[in-house]
Amino acid sequence: MTHYWNPRIETMEISELEDLQFRLLKTLVYRLYSFSRFYHDRMDENGVHPDDIGSLEDIRKLPFMLKKDLRDNYPDGLFIAPQDEIVRYHVSSGTTGKPTVVGYTEQDLNRWTESLARALSSCGMGRGDVMQVSYGYGLFTGGLGLHYGAERIGATVLPASVGNTERQVEMMIDLKVTAIACTPSYLLHIGEVAEKMGISIKNDTRLRIGVLGAEPWTEQMRERIESWLGIRAYDIFGTSELSGPLFTECKEQKGIHIWGDLAYAEVLDESGNEVPPGKEGELVVTMLQKEALPIIRYRTGDITKVERSKCSCGRSHARIHRITGRVDDMLIIRGINVFPSQVEYALMEIPEVGEHFQIVVDRKGALDEMLVRVEVKKDSFSDKITDLMKIRSSVEHRLKNSLNVSCSVELVEPGSLPRFEGKSKKVIDARKI
Ligand code: ADP
Ligand code: ZN
Repeated sequence: MTHYWNPRIETMEISELEDLQFRLLKTLVYRLYSFSRFYHDRMDENGVHPDDIGSLEDIRKLPFMLKKDLRDNYPDGLFIAPQDEIVRYHVSSGTTGKPTVVGYTEQDLNRWTESLARALSSCGMGRGDVMQVSYGYGLFTGGLGLHYGAERIGATVLPASVGNTERQVEMMIDLKVTAIACTPSYLLHIGEVAEKMGISIKNDTRLRIGVLGAEPWTEQMRERIESWLGIRAYDIFGTSELSGPLFTECKEQKGIHIWGDLAYAEVLDESGNEVPPGKEGELVVTMLQKEALPIIRYRTGDITKVERSKCSCGRSHARIHRITGRVDDMLIIRGINVFPSQVEYALMEIPEVGEHFQIVVDRKGALDEMLVRVEVKKDSFSDKITDLMKIRSSVEHRLKNSLNVSCSVELVEPGSLPRFEGKSKKVIDARKI
């Protein structure tokens, strides 16, 4: 039976939800026009007034907000709550540039926690579960976000944070951990460290759920993680600007539910128009109820598609497909667009290949060269050159077919590529160095 955290909201009719979204949007726009110098000026510059918002679709009249806007107004120029109402700051790691600061009122924290309470319940978690939170605690939003979300639903939280991986494995066993939240790459690392300790996560622990995100991963990687570790792995998405990690897949694993009373998601093409249903584009999010740092039409830079029909879990809230890449992650190799996720997808289809890989791009003369370094699985790693050559040529073949650009492949020993505790870095673009 499906368990809803907030049944009234989660299962409301789509039309009723859209009506609520419209009312929240209208209130938000009036509030910002009155209280935010930034939004007031932006709206004036774009010739739009709050009175122009007569329907939910009119959201398209509103100007976009970019990460650059937060940077330009560093640290708190876009906050509209006074400092004495801000109860928390987080600072983004600056993976894509200079760090940005986000702030929360008490209500903001409450809604963030509510969002995760619904999300974790939708993955089948609840009272009795023990969740190991192995996202970084501190300035990064992951650790504290999941921490409060899991506590809200009555689960027991083990605030493990990142690092000291052997200890993480011991605690997982000793405290009968049933769920873990971390990046998919850190879970791979934990699984390997466990094996080195002679422990199988699948057979020797009670772990049954992984809530994995903060970086892109593919469906193929999910299948590998699920069968190797004996768990159900759910995708979780968010960015610090939106509050932090907020939304997950439900047990159906057919997309990430974006709680419509909290956020409105659009997926747009390069010119800013809505893409046709089923097509990919850039995810643009409006947070409908955020107080300290309002976010309207924030261009996340993440590429996905949106599904607005009701989910088979009974929830009416729109779903986004897993993120397949970032607008700014796209590699252009000899004029062909390549996303790291395509490389992962192709590699994970080859059984002899392990989960760790690295893409190195360089320029020889005028030509771009792409090298994919990938680990071979322990059981497939052989001393026989001919065996390795066979694997290598099948990897090259597969990559060439799915990327439409040729690249060289280097097979490396299991365990030889770097492991990551937080977000992984899979691309080295030497053209930019
Ligand atoms: P920073 O990395 O600068 O600290 P954030 O933690 O806010 O900033 O990172 C948010 C970004 O992380 C998203 O815009 C997206 O690119 C990536 N991300 C988060 N969750 C996922 C996910 N489930 N799948 C793919 N990418 C994700
Ligand atoms: Zn669902």
